[in-house]
Amino acid sequence: MSIHDEGYIKFNCKLSEKKIFVPDDILIKINYWRNRFKLFRMIGVLDNGIGFGNISYNINGEKFYISGSSTGDVSELTNYHIAKVTFCNVEKNLVECEGKINASSESLSHYSIYKSSIGAKAVIHIHCKHLWNKYMNKLPTTAPDAYFGSVELANELKRLSKNTTSNIIIAAGHEDGIFSYAESIDKAAENLLRLY
Ligand SMILES: [Zn+2]
Repeated sequence: MSIHDEGYIKFNCKLSEKKIFVPDDILIKINYWRNRFKLFRMIGVLDNGIGFGNISYNINGEKFYISGSSTGDVSELTNYHIAKVTFCNVEKNLVECEGKINASSESLSHYSIYKSSIGAKAVIHIHCKHLWNKYMNKLPTTAPDAYFGSVELANELKRLSKNTTSNIIIAAGHEDGIFSYAESIDKAAENLLRLY
């Protein structure tokens, strides 16, 4: 499975359509870092229109904000492009959210880290072939058969983020995929930039 499959995975997203208000400071941080990673092509959109990479912000361990599905080509995210995830069930591949857009199909990966980590407030997921190859099995690395959107990947992220607040995980079964989590969006982003 490759990044080209991303966006086609059928995951069950139940959207309660209502306007949500992401706090300004969080929206600004998400856009700031998203635009920087877009310049490096670590977040963005493929030629076929499928987006990759996303940023989430943990509200309280159960609920979090995450960029919406198919927003890879949006230059500045607003409240209309972000979903507030309110419930997840990994085994059922189920995400419930509020907003005007479905949550990213990678929401369950972000959720697994928040459930397992102590104090992670942000998760940044990027795609980068160079860093993915360079740090495979040198940083915490998921099992190679834990593919994009699978329960196995969620469980691997849970296992590797357990009892930590900040780290970087290489997703071996999700081509080019890297997850960074930390106590703030800034810290999660800076940890990634430090790898360069
Ligand atoms: Zn990905």
